[in-house]
Amino acid sequence: MNSGVAIIASYHAHVYYEPATTREVAARLRERIGAQFRVQLGRWHDVPVGPHPGAMYQVAFEVAAFERLVPWLMLNRDGLTVLVHPNTGRPRDDHLVHALWLGGTRPLNGDTLPLSEPREEISPIVPNTAVGA
Ligand code: ZN
Repeated sequence: MNSGVAIIASYHAHVYYEPATTREVAARLRERIGAQFRVQLGRWHDVPVGPHPGAMYQVAFEVAAFERLVPWLMLNRDGLTVLVHPNTGRPRDDHLVHALWLGGTRPLNGDTLPLSEPREEISPIVPNTAVGA
């Protein structure tokens, strides 16, 4: 990481929803993602956690899945806001600087994110599994 060249280990897509109104939309999207892509579906968070400003679930995926999954999300997010960020070992930059947003940006609380994390702490992706679904 001292070379100045960040290597992307994996990606996350965080799908935001409103528990009172769009949870069902988010559930349908989640099912479609799980059925069509090699991803690891994170648990539902109906209350904000970490840097995230609203309810969301995480979709973790390998670099190889990006070129199919992200364009699919562009076309199929069904009005939901999605944050896509790389995992390079620099969590604060990954979320605040290197991220892309589908459907508009939201303010993240970067104070909750470390500047760096050891590469071995970047969770490996176990595709087509759900955590606490
Ligand atoms: Zn993430």
